[in-house]
Amino acid sequence: MALHLQGRCVCKHIQYSLDLESPDQARTTLCHCKSCHHAFRANHGLTAKVPQYNGVTREFCDNCGDYICEYGEEAADKFRYVVWGTLDDPDEIPPKGEFFCRYRDEWMPEIPDEYLDTNYVFHKQEIKE
Ligand SMILES: [Zn+2]
Ligand SMILES: [Zn+2]
Repeated sequence: MALHLQGRCVCKHIQYSLDLESPDQARTTLCHCKSCHHAFRANHGLTAKVPQYNGVTREFCDNCGDYICEYGEEAADKFRYVVWGTLDDPDEIPPKGEFFCRYRDEWMPEIPDEYLDTNYVFHKQEIKE
């Protein structure tokens, strides 16, 4: 099922759309690392990894300063990590896993394993394991 999603920054200066062949093309994850604490000003980061062809290249809105996406240098031509909350209907691509669970706040529960019908939600203590 093809999916067309739209997103924007707080002030709407940046508006973008994502075209996915199916929801499987997006990998939404929570990240509990310290870097995400600061970047998201919250106790976790929440991004959706999507193919780069979606053309999201700007990281911040130069008007309101809102944070739209991030990407690693090596994979800059392959993926973008779109900030989940910038999408108008983020629930179309629900979380599939969590990274850096060892830094999870005690008051924050895990996403239940059976949250998704099709595949189990993963929980990684670090980023690679
Ligand atoms: Zn803006
Ligand atoms: Zn992180």
